[in-house]
Amino acid sequence: MPTMYYEGDADPALIARRRVAILGFGSQGHAHAMNLKDSGVDVVVGLRDGSPRAARAAEAGLKVVDPATAVDWADVIMVLVPDQVQPELYEDVIAPNLNPGDLLLFAHGFSIRFGYITPPPDVDVAMIAPKGPGHLVRRQYVEGSGVPALIAVHQDATGNAKAVALSYAHGIGGTRAGVIETTFSDEAETDLFGEQVILCGGIDSMIRAAFETLTEAGYAEEMAYFEVLHELKLIVDLLYEGGISWMRHSVSDTAEYGDITRGPRIVTDETKAEMRRILDEIQTGAFAREWMDEYRAGAPNLLAARAAVTEHPVERVGRELRPMMPFLVEKVPADDV
Ligand code: NAD
Ligand code: MG
Repeated sequence: MPTMYYEGDADPALIARRRVAILGFGSQGHAHAMNLKDSGVDVVVGLRDGSPRAARAAEAGLKVVDPATAVDWADVIMVLVPDQVQPELYEDVIAPNLNPGDLLLFAHGFSIRFGYITPPPDVDVAMIAPKGPGHLVRRQYVEGSGVPALIAVHQDATGNAKAVALSYAHGIGGTRAGVIETTFSDEAETDLFGEQVILCGGIDSMIRAAFETLTEAGYAEEMAYFEVLHELKLIVDLLYEGGISWMRHSVSDTAEYGDITRGPRIVTDETKAEMRRILDEIQTGAFAREWMDEYRAGAPNLLAARAAVTEHPVERVGRELRPMMPFLVEKVPADDV
């Protein structure tokens, strides 16, 4: 069992005595900044000149300054810009304004684990990573609860890194739910593995293959959409609430028998061997290098795939069917990397 920390393990006064800069005001940034402010912490949001998010941060009653000013003013700096943008922001804005004894915080281990950011030895480096999207981190806090978070210390120059990071976690509501101790490596590697083999890569490849199999066999696209995409939510909710046993208990016996006999034919020993190879690419840094090279080249493959998937029949039929379900709020992805 990893070490867990709760409310009583954190000293809220530590972060209250610091000046906190939140860099970025996206999913995580808005939640961290607003929760800290409501916890009585002295916080500013660092945003580029002309950032469309500046108005929203100001409306929320937050102080907004440019990122360099924010880092210079603060002694705790939380980096909440996209992972692929962090190295450049670090070189241009963070590094020149860091002071000895500052605490540099991340919500994901990518940049540190794969060597894209190497802070000087005289600063503390730690991670507070909520295990949920920002809107949930904010909503749970407002409701008096919290989202579990991970804590990791990469570098402890002052001897206080963990205590101050834990105090930060308290300020965003994380200790209300529980904070689990880990390392930058374990967090970065398991996070990438999860999103590649199941959460994103695994699931959406299975959806498209299953949809194609049904429609190529002559079944209606609308039927295929409901069976292989829409109904996934019911199953994921059951897994989330009570694990595999609860899901199997809740579906019909026919579905359960199909699960135990057919599932292993979909995910075979060969699939598992490929998962192992994907994990190896993560651990050696090959995936991180490939992605950063792709991003620095203008993300041509990412943008091409993003455009192509909108043409897939499962996407087209989904766009046609979802308006039939007024309980769904229309979601249109933004066109940025
Ligand atoms: P996001 O994409 O929602 O927001 C990014 C913010 O950075 C925005 O305010 C954007 O305007 C700003 N930004 C973009 N490009 C910039 C640039 N070139 N210079 C300066 N600012 C720029 O990102 P997010 O999902 O909140 O992720 C932030 C961090 O939190 C990442 O390290 C991510 O891995 C981590 N994290 C995210 C989640 C999640 O569910 N979204 C959960 C845990 C951890
Ligand atoms: Mg993740």
